Amino acid sequence: MRLATFQLNGRRQVGQVSSDGTKVTPFALMEAQAASGVLALVESAARGEPLPQLSAQAVSIESVQLEAPIPRPRRNVWCVGRNYHAHAKELSSSVFKANSGKTDEWPIVFTKAPECVVGPRADVQLPGGVSEQIDYEAELGVVIGSQGKNIRPEDALHHVYGYTVINDVTARDVQMRHQQWDMGKSFDTFCPMGPWIQTADEFDALKSRVRCWVNGEQRQDSPVDNMIFDIPTLIETISRGITLYPGDIIATGTPAGVGMGLKPPVFLKAGDVVRVEVEGLGEIENRFV
Ligand code: MG
Repeated sequence: MRLATFQLNGRRQVGQVSSDGTKVTPFALMEAQAASGVLALVESAARGEPLPQLSAQAVSIESVQLEAPIPRPRRNVWCVGRNYHAHAKELSSSVFKANSGKTDEWPIVFTKAPECVVGPRADVQLPGGVSEQIDYEAELGVVIGSQGKNIRPEDALHHVYGYTVINDVTARDVQMRHQQWDMGKSFDTFCPMGPWIQTADEFDALKSRVRCWVNGEQRQDSPVDNMIFDIPTLIETISRGITLYPGDIIATGTPAGVGMGLKPPVFLKAGDVVRVEVEGLGEIENRFV
């Protein structure tokens, strides 16, 4: 099932997207529930409640404005750095230079501020005067469905509600300037997400691919299966002594082909359009302004 958050008739609604992605049927939710988007459904499922009723009318997806499925996560988006071998190699002399060594044993984990989440078609603002090195990172996002702490790898996928598409937009110069990555990852609008959440029962992440195009030119394409630390390992690692809650989001890392890895590096400029696809799930496309 594909679950989307969108604006229709001037109000936020949550709906079920048809399997071909062309229509969406709103759920009959109170306005206060719909305000948190698909998060309302994730949290009600965690309480053991059934899905709400659908309202009668399906509408064309073209007639609504899709938002991020969880427009404002309750807390920071968990993110994983250096999680595909070829990407680790392409940035081994720059971003990952200071992080070599123990990263073979433990994933790099950082976060993005929840306020930087924007929708699947929203503009991304280049932070003029602050960074000259804006880059894209196409990623599969995991949405946690049930609370857990010290989750064992063999139990981890039972805690997954579904999956989404994320562009982990990054200011490389700011990322490398500070010991911690959060600043270079958390500029306003730096977390395009969507176009919906696909529930885990209908998506086999391991058989999927993550792809990215800039202005129509393909830059990234990798099987999800090429991750260094797989999804159960990431959930196990992040939940060590830290409770994960329904609606928590984990961006699982990006494959090779980011702008900084090109020779010479190529960064995003105003007018560029970045499209990120997770095969079998959906795609997001954002203009940089
Ligand atoms: Mg990333």
